Amino acid sequence: MNAYLFDPPPLAALPVRGHTQRFPVHRIFCVGRNYHAHAAEMGRTVDKSVDTPFYFTKSPSTLVESGATVAYPPGTENYHHEMELVVALGRPGFRVTEGDAHELIFGYASGLDMTRRDLQLLARDKGRPWDLGKDFEESAVCSEIVPMPGRVLERAAISLQVNGQTRQHSNIDKLIWGVREIIADLSRFYRLQAGDLIYTGTPEGVAAVLSGDRLSGRIEGVADVALSIGKPL
Ligand code: MN
Repeated sequence: MNAYLFDPPPLAALPVRGHTQRFPVHRIFCVGRNYHAHAAEMGRTVDKSVDTPFYFTKSPSTLVESGATVAYPPGTENYHHEMELVVALGRPGFRVTEGDAHELIFGYASGLDMTRRDLQLLARDKGRPWDLGKDFEESAVCSEIVPMPGRVLERAAISLQVNGQTRQHSNIDKLIWGVREIIADLSRFYRLQAGDLIYTGTPEGVAAVLSGDRLSGRIEGVADVALSIGKPL
């Protein structure tokens, strides 16, 4: 007899370059406003001397593998791309120092934090949670994970093209809070686990996409990520 009333959801997982085994995803953390030029285009500024990083989460069930076609989501007229470096953790850690943060790193991926911008900004301006804008079906797009155990990425070009036109182009060295700082800070609030993904934030150039658009992102030395936008549901 089945232990469950109905089929439990499938485990979210991603392919790993050079491995037949997949990476089981535990949680998806996302960093808000982690490039100055993107914070500015959102009408906010970040002062690292007084501000601390902030986070939101996406459910593992929102994960979509690179190459997919996703439906244009409901409830929005301003569906945006955010191209991001994704850190994949392979070991647990709690209250980790910046100096030890690399020990948690399994590898990296190229991700798209797809966003219902109109709903996110409405929530932001009313002081409400961001879930409607950020945590919805097929909103966390991710490439294969590229194993780089213990390595801290500090510099790499990051770019996104839509229908062959460059929309976002920057470098990981412009992250306000870098990979070490993010892992250490997040581990003050969560008992980080193997399988956790961290979307590190997007550079400037976020913009709306429409049905029929084809997105193609790249982080130099990491991976490519592709997404097609399908018809509305
Ligand atoms: Mn983002």
